This record gives sequence, structure tokens and C-alpha cells, in this order.
Amino acid sequence: MVEYGLYIGGSWVAPKAGKLFDAVNPFTGECWARVSEADAADVDHAVTAATTAQVGWAATNGATRARILNNIADIITENAKNMAVFESTDNGKVIRETESQMLFAARLFRFYAGYADKLFGSTIPLDSPSVLDYTTREPYGVVGLITAWNSPITLLCNKLPAALAAGNTVIVKPSEHASVSTLELCKLFEKAELPAGVVNVVTGAGPTGAAIVTHPGISKVSFTGSPVVGRKIAATAGEHLKPVTLELGGKSPNIIFDDADPEAATIGALAGIFGATGQTCVAGSRLLVQRGLYDEIVSRLAARAEEIRLGDPLDHDSEMGTVANKPQFDRIIASIEAAKSAGARLVTGGGAATGDHLGNGLFVQPTIFADVENSMDIAQSEIFGPVLSILPFDTEEEAVQIANDIPFGLAAGIWTRDISRAMRLVPKMKSGVVWVNTYRVVAAQAPFGGTKESGFGRERGEQGIMEFTSIKNVMIDYSDQARDPFAIKN
Ligand code: NAD
Repeated sequence: MVEYGLYIGGSWVAPKAGKLFDAVNPFTGECWARVSEADAADVDHAVTAATTAQVGWAATNGATRARILNNIADIITENAKNMAVFESTDNGKVIRETESQMLFAARLFRFYAGYADKLFGSTIPLDSPSVLDYTTREPYGVVGLITAWNSPITLLCNKLPAALAAGNTVIVKPSEHASVSTLELCKLFEKAELPAGVVNVVTGAGPTGAAIVTHPGISKVSFTGSPVVGRKIAATAGEHLKPVTLELGGKSPNIIFDDADPEAATIGALAGIFGATGQTCVAGSRLLVQRGLYDEIVSRLAARAEEIRLGDPLDHDSEMGTVANKPQFDRIIASIEAAKSAGARLVTGGGAATGDHLGNGLFVQPTIFADVENSMDIAQSEIFGPVLSILPFDTEEEAVQIANDIPFGLAAGIWTRDISRAMRLVPKMKSGVVWVNTYRVVAAQAPFGGTKESGFGRERGEQGIMEFTSIKNVMIDYSDQARDPFAIKN
């Protein structure tokens, strides 16, 4: 069985305490690799390597960093199929999705390669004629990147290329539930001429992540994960006065108006909740449907959900894979049972999916509840699985009120053929992302992130790289005159 060490300073090293944990394939239920568990001493080792490498990396000119990031993009593209197999084996996501996620990761490397030599500052006109004021953008230094298990490479590459393009070196900690693809990515870095120590990966669970957040040598933390852990990280970072970016959970409203194209809206709703087995932060898990189209949408969705092909995540014909790990599977089943007890009307699904072709896999049936009330837990709590709640509404005002009556603020969808209505509603949505007549579409150029309990800060787009830079203001007095030491002048 493959055993992975920690990737520190460009070498594979054993964890100091010698501990390893199992990587479990959620389709077979079997341990398929062993992964190292890093403790605080290993994190400290990684920080030393990253600190040493950062001096040279930040001094490298932007064009050189861009060339190396483009090399990485090329190598990820060449190895996309292989990388997808590692990720799908580790977290049960279907291969057709992980393959396209690898290509998106390459796209993100290319996008930020383009920024490496374009981190411009600005000149600022002051009141005094003989003072030049300008800004520069500097890297933070060593930054910590902590990610979740649902899409390890995408979540990492929402952060990593931006951090590197800006001249930071990094300590990465993937989730203990899906570490392998991140470790395999390190093997590709070796071929891309990335200097040793620029990227370091320490695997392990919560305590490994906590050691990153508290380490004084790490200047900034970018985290993707649950609001529960995000809150802890923000509190610890606050104690250490360390800046953080938090990409947390969601319970996003997807709103269908009577005038929407019913087929397009059904497909959008389906992709929004059953894509990635619902294990995505932007899952459109609350479908708000206007009364005139309500029955039609419920029955269309039920029919389509029942046709979804569940199967081996490595089979290209499979449309929905397994849930990624047993604790998550148990949480989803418990949420479904609680919704039934709370009186939500079960339209389809409603439990574990079994069958000869599903083996021991952690499969959940695509599940739809209708006539859900917004006060029910199923409408308010993030389930992070293939479970849709459908809520009826009558008016636009009511739709906005229900949509925003939620602790989260990550994404929202609006389906209407009335452009005026769409434009009226966009500013009313309390979320970081709004999709109109589309859903769960992402782009390297477009900023992504949330409000409220979905976190703060942005990834991707120009804002994504700004999160990894610190602004320095420089003021140069070239008047050649001594100033009054007791008067403030501008
Ligand atoms: P999680 O919060 O349990 O774990 C995320 C990461 O944090 C893991 O690497 C974990 O080991 C680490 N961690 C745990 N305790 C820690 C601590 N005290 N200090 C530092 N690190 C610690 O989340 P999860 O179950 O892996 O992922 C699911 C969650 O992630 C969902 O809420 C989902 O919505 C969210 N998510 C958000 C986005 C986004 O971009 N907004 C994307 C994907 C997933």
C-alpha cells in the first residue's frame, strides 16, 4: 500500500512522531493509502523551509514566477486524468467532474501566472507638490492554506496560484478525509522547476491545522471549511492578530419565478443540488418556486432525480458518486430522518441507495422534500449532501424575504425571463454570488466568496490575488527643505 510522507522543503519526510492514518475509498470502504499525521513540530519544520525559500521566491521576478506557474498549468493538464483518478478514489466524486476540475485548476494557474508581473501599485497625488507618494504590493511571507475534502484540488487552487504569483511561500493542509490528490500534486511541482520549499504540505486533522493558525512564522491564513471551524480559526487568528480569509458553508436559495423557462430552471436546480452529490458549498439546497410553476417544477425535478445514474465514481457513465466519508454519510441520513419527522413532504429518495453495482459505497438517494417551511431545520442547516428542500412563494417580496432569512450568504440563483425583475433582485440578495438563469458556474476571472456566516474575503479574480498581498505606502519628500517638526503637513 502507498504511504505518503510530508512534503517539506522539496523532499518527502516522515512525520516526527511516526504516526500515519488511513485514506479510505468511500466506494469500496477499503483503506487504499496511508497518510502521515503532522504535529506542531512538523509544522514548525515546514515553516522553516518555507521561510528560507520565501526570500528567493519573492526576489524572483514576476516573469519567472509566471513561467513556473504556466509550467505547473501545463503539467496539471497533461496529468489531469490521472489526478482525477486519485481524487475520485479518495472522495467518491464522479470522474467526469474531477477531470474537469483538474483542467479548471490548470486554468487558475494560468490566470494567476498572468498577474505575477502585473501587481502594480499606484501613484497618489498629495496636496504638497514636492512629495511623491506611491504604493507597492508585497507578499505576506509564509501563508497557511487549509482546505476541505469535497474538492481538494479546486479548493487548493482557488488559493495556491494567487499566493505564489504574489511571492508568498505556503504551508498547505488538506482535509484528513481526502489528502492524496494534494500530495500527488506535489510530485507535479517537482517537474515544473518550482524551487524547493515554496510549497510544503503537512497532512493531518484539526490539530495540524490549529498548529498552522497559531504558528508565529505564518503571516496569513486562508481557510475553506465549515462555519464551526471557521469561527475557531477566526478567534485564534484574532488572538494572534493574523489576517484570515474564510470560505465557509452555505444554504443557498435558488429562486424560480412563474415566467422562467421550466426546462432550463429544472436543469439548473438539478445541477445546483445533485452535482457533486450536493457536497458543494454553493449547493442550491433551498429551491424557492413561485406558486404558478410549483407543481410542474416539483414533478419535473422528481422525474429527473429518479433518472440520475448512481455508480462507481471512476466510471464515466456515473452521474452521482458516493458521499465522501462515513461521518458525512451519517450526518446526511440523520438530516433526512429529522426532516421526515418534522413533517416535510418527501417527494423522492429519502435514504441510503443500495444495489449490486453500488457495492459497499456510501451512496445516498437523490432526495427531494417539498412544501418545506423556512423555519424547518432542513431549510436552515447546511446538509452538504444530495437533499433538496422546495419552498413555495407567491410574491417577489416574499421570495426575497425567504431567500435572505438564513444565517448564510454565499450564493443565490434567480430564474426569470423578466430582465427588469432580475436587475431589481440582484442587489437585494444578501450573498457574495448571484446567478441569473444559470447556477453553479465558476470562472477563474470572477471573484467568489460569501457574506454573513459564509465567511469573508474573496478567491479567484483580481480580488483573489489581492488577498495575498499587503499594501505598502511610500512617501518621498524631494523638496530639499527641512520641515517644522511640530506641525503636521500634507
Ligand atoms: P471542516 O471545517 O471540518 O474542515 C476543514 C479543514 O479544517 C480540514 O482540513 C480540517 O482538518 C481543518 N480543521 C479542523 N479543525 C481545525 C482547527 N481547529 N484549526 C485549523 N484547522 C482545522 O470542513 P469540512 O467538513 O472538511 O468541509 C465541509 C465544509 O466546507 C462545508 O461547510 C462546506 O460548505 C465548506 N466549504 C466551503 C467552500 C467555500 O468556498 N465557501 C468550499 C468547499 C467547502
